[in-house]
Amino acid sequence: MKLYPYTISALKKLQKRFLLFIITNQSGISRGEVTAEQVKSVNDFIVLTLRKKRVIINEVYSCPHQTKDNCRCKKPKPYFLKKAAKDFSLNLKDSFIIGDHLSDAECGIRAGATPLYVLTGHGMKHRADVPVGIKICRNLKNAAEHILMVTNA
Ligand SMILES: [Zn+2]
Repeated sequence: MKLYPYTISALKKLQKRFLLFIITNQSGISRGEVTAEQVKSVNDFIVLTLRKKRVIINEVYSCPHQTKDNCRCKKPKPYFLKKAAKDFSLNLKDSFIIGDHLSDAECGIRAGATPLYVLTGHGMKHRADVPVGIKICRNLKNAAEHILMVTNA
């Protein structure tokens, strides 16, 4: 696990105004490629690494299923966004989801939040399929700057 050089500073700026969460699809668990414990240890490591730099991830919501399991929680289903909203009294209309998959963007839209699509990770691969109207950002730094700009009323 390696962070981009701008990750900590981008998240620090965002957490002054927002609570931060990770919502992750981990279908490798259902497919038997990784165990739930292995995924949890990676997630724990990410959270701890960020915490050491004073970036607080309030919760990690992880779906272990594959699409054929027809669960309620796999993105693009908005279940975890709605759960976070309930657990932490968030207003989803004022919330953002940053992701490198179309399912992240769709999840945000279905939850009433604002999606930002980043071109890092898997982002470049599906860029052409991003629906018109969804903000595309080069990376997390760009996305954070955009969010802070549009919310700095
Ligand atoms: Zn699920």
